[in-house]
Amino acid sequence: MEIKFIGTSNAFASGGLCWNGFVVDDRILFETPPQVLMSLHHVALDPNKVETIVLSHHHGDHFLGLPFLLLHWKYRERKKPIRIVGPVETERLAKEICTTVYPGLFEDCDFEIIWQEIRPGEMFTTDDLVLEAVGVKHDARLSQNLGFHCSIGNERFGYTGDSALCDGVLDLARANSLLISECSSRAENIPTHMNLVDDMPKLREVMERTDNLILTHINSDVSPNNLPNTIVARDYATYRY
Ligand SMILES: [Zn+2]
Repeated sequence: MEIKFIGTSNAFASGGLCWNGFVVDDRILFETPPQVLMSLHHVALDPNKVETIVLSHHHGDHFLGLPFLLLHWKYRERKKPIRIVGPVETERLAKEICTTVYPGLFEDCDFEIIWQEIRPGEMFTTDDLVLEAVGVKHDARLSQNLGFHCSIGNERFGYTGDSALCDGVLDLARANSLLISECSSRAENIPTHMNLVDDMPKLREVMERTDNLILTHINSDVSPNNLPNTIVARDYATYRY
């Protein structure tokens, strides 16, 4: 399994980092951050190759790149369907935002959009991809905040893109030998996020020592540390497991 990061920052893009998102095996895109189209081009990945999009929640740094992807697909000869998996309200919100900034965006497209909204505890399955949504603590004013147990073929990992330390996150950490987790700051105490100094040791505590932890959705002051098998993702880096 190949994980290509198109961005690693939290909402503030500190230090010039791109907003968090990554692509698995060049076809499953997690999050659509505002720079997603530019970043896919930067890593020489044809946006038409993306088969499935997975959204954790509707904050702008995770969601607002979608109009640009749709624009690309509409005018750059996408033919095959795209699946968009996300929290409830994803289809309505996406259509409202996309048609406001690009009127007519959904008209006369040569590709089908398959919207799949899932709730915590529900599964999404297609081909060799299985996603199980997990509720995480983040912004209660949004429709939902999701993490995911992900299986692609024989590979499995957990993902939480933006959340406080909570039962859902601990569940993801216990159940997966690879976890991709937000780590929004080095030591700030923010009730909707995790930090490196206080929260990551607690996350590592419930993981096996040999399990891998990749930190993303970071502030630029989050740097490699002494936690076992833990790395900080870098913009445009590729990791293989
Ligand atoms: Zn958020």
